[in-house]
Amino acid sequence: MSAEPRDIRDLARFLSQREDLGLDEVFLEGLTREQVLRAAGEARRGARQPSGLPSRETVGADPKERGSAEFPVPGVASASEVDLAGFEYSELAVVAESCQRCRLAKGRTRVVFSDGNPRARLMVVGEAPGANEDRTGLPFVGQAGKFLDLLLASVDLSRKDSVYICNVLKCRPPGNRDPMADEIEHCSPFLKRQIALVAPEVIVAVGTFAAQLLTGTNRPLGKLRGTVYAYEGVPLVVTYHPAALLRNAGWTRSTWDDFQLLRQVMDGS
Ligand code: SF4
Repeated sequence: MSAEPRDIRDLARFLSQREDLGLDEVFLEGLTREQVLRAAGEARRGARQPSGLPSRETVGADPKERGSAEFPVPGVASASEVDLAGFEYSELAVVAESCQRCRLAKGRTRVVFSDGNPRARLMVVGEAPGANEDRTGLPFVGQAGKFLDLLLASVDLSRKDSVYICNVLKCRPPGNRDPMADEIEHCSPFLKRQIALVAPEVIVAVGTFAAQLLTGTNRPLGKLRGTVYAYEGVPLVVTYHPAALLRNAGWTRSTWDDFQLLRQVMDGS
């Protein structure tokens, strides 16, 4: 097993938590002595100053006060009760990585937090990770991701430079089933905080679940598209999910029109 920096950080966090619980003995398989020593060093540094997270003095003695997933309280705090409003961007990503707030935590391989530029003018909000996203930890990869990149390129945008991409749900629903209402409720505070921190000039919601969540309606996507909405004052355009376009080529023209509308909104025309 070769441990990447991310694995080392996860291991460091695990070791730090064990130490907090007073468990000073741990058995690790598949790691070299050097990797374990490196993780232990990071855990010690993390104990002095938790990486990417506020200090306990900042968040208060009771972890429930901030609802950090670093201190999960399953079955006690739902995300709707949890205040993520105080978290900075890097802290939010770390909290999401260890989140246990809904059933999807059990089946995920990776938390899929975002891709693209956190300072972008445009934010794309999709539905939930699929198998490729769950494996890579990135949203919109595979065929649907390539389709999205083409649609963005058609209006002179690229995910690397000018777009920030994320999903309503950060973990993959099993078998690519639809998100459940309680999963959206538990996860949407992450999205809400992402939007506040990225502060995009325009949002495009792709697919029914993102569109309905951000417009606050349950109307079908076909009836929602073609209009510019506002989410917390940010102009919002809705369109079909690229994965749906792969199944329904007839929606491609409508989607192209939606991206033209998006471009007009971005250009202020
Ligand atoms: S889907 Fe969201 S709320 Fe559920 S475990 Fe993943 S990050 Fe947490």
